[in-house]
Amino acid sequence: MPELETRKVVVVGSGSAGYTAAIYAARADLQPLLFGGVALGGQLMITSDVENFPGFPEPVPGPELMDRMAKQVARLGVQVVQEGVSKVDFAKRPFRLETTEGRAVFAESVVVATGAEAQWLGLPSEKRLRGKGVSACATCDGFFFKGKEVVVVGGGDVAIEEACFLTHFASKVTVVHRRSELRASKALQKCAFSNPKIGFAWDRVVEEILGTEKATGVRLKNVKTGALEELPCGGVFVAIGHKPNTDVFKGQLDLDEAGYVKTDGRARTSVPGVFAAGDCMDSRYRQAVVAAGTGCMAALEAERFLAG
Ligand code: NAP
Repeated sequence: MPELETRKVVVVGSGSAGYTAAIYAARADLQPLLFGGVALGGQLMITSDVENFPGFPEPVPGPELMDRMAKQVARLGVQVVQEGVSKVDFAKRPFRLETTEGRAVFAESVVVATGAEAQWLGLPSEKRLRGKGVSACATCDGFFFKGKEVVVVGGGDVAIEEACFLTHFASKVTVVHRRSELRASKALQKCAFSNPKIGFAWDRVVEEILGTEKATGVRLKNVKTGALEELPCGGVFVAIGHKPNTDVFKGQLDLDEAGYVKTDGRARTSVPGVFAAGDCMDSRYRQAVVAAGTGCMAALEAERFLAG
C-alpha cells in the first residue's frame, strides 16, 4: 500500500461531525483527507425521518441528509477514503494514521469524529424492525409516536429521561427494566414515579419484539419466575447505553471512564493538534446538529492550531 504525503488535516469519521469538519477545513484551503470508514454516513444512515435538522421544512430521511452532506464535501474537493482507521500514533507530529487496508498517512492535525453506537439488545426482531417502530433515540423519533403506547427498555438516566420526554407524545410509556430498582438518579426517578403516564415492568427483559412490517408489541420474560407475557405497543425505545467508537484511540488520547474523548470545550483533546467532535466526545446531547456544530469548532481550532 502506498505511503501518502503529510496532510494538513485528516478527519476520521463520516457522520455529520466529520463531514462538517471537512467542509470547514476545505473552505479554509487545508485540503483535508477524510477517512470515512467502510460504510459512510454514521448513525443517521439508520434513522428514518429527521425532522429536527434546521433547513429542512419537511422531514428528510437520514440517509438522504447524509448523501447531501457527502455531495457537499465532494463539491468542495475533500478527498474521501472509504477505509476505517485501525491504528494511530499521536506521540509526535506529524501524527501517523493507518487504515484497515494498511494505508498510512501523516497529518499535521487530526479531527476525531468517529461517533458512537447505541447498545442494542441483540435480538433479530429488533434489527429487523429498527426504524419501523424500534428506535434508540426518543429525541429524534418520539414525535412519531403521538397517541401511541410505547415501551422504553433500560433503567438508567437515559431510559428515564426518554420515558419522561415520550410522555409528551405517547398515551402511555412502560419502562421495562431487568431489575426491581432503577439505576437512574433519584431526581429523575421522582419525576418518573410521579408521572401518571409512566408505568413499570420490573424484573423483565424483552425476549422478542413483535410485528412484521412494524413493531406491534413486545414479549417479556420475568427473570425471577421465567413467566412470559405479551405487551402490545406501537414503539420500542432501547435505552441501555451507548458506546463511543474510540477503541483505536486508547492510550493515545485521554478518554473518560465510558470511553468518550475528553475535550476542553474548544474541541481540543489531551494531544495538541488532535481535536474531537460529535458523539465520540458527547455523551450528553447526541444530536446530529450538535455533532455538526462541534465538527465546525474542531476544524476552526485545527486551522488556528496550524496557523499558530
Ligand atoms: P447506563 O447508566 O449504563 O444505564 C444502562 C441501563 O440499561 C441500566 O439500567 C442497565 O441495567 C440497562 N441495561 C444494560 N444492558 C442491558 C441489557 N442487555 N438488557 C436490559 N437492560 C440493560 O446508561 P445510560 O442511561 O445511557 O447513561 C449513560 C451515562 O450518561 C450515565 O453515566 C448517566 O448517568 C449519564 N447521563 C446523565 C444524565 C443526567 O445527569 N441528567 C442524563 C443522561 C445520561 P442495570 O441497571 O441492571 O445495569
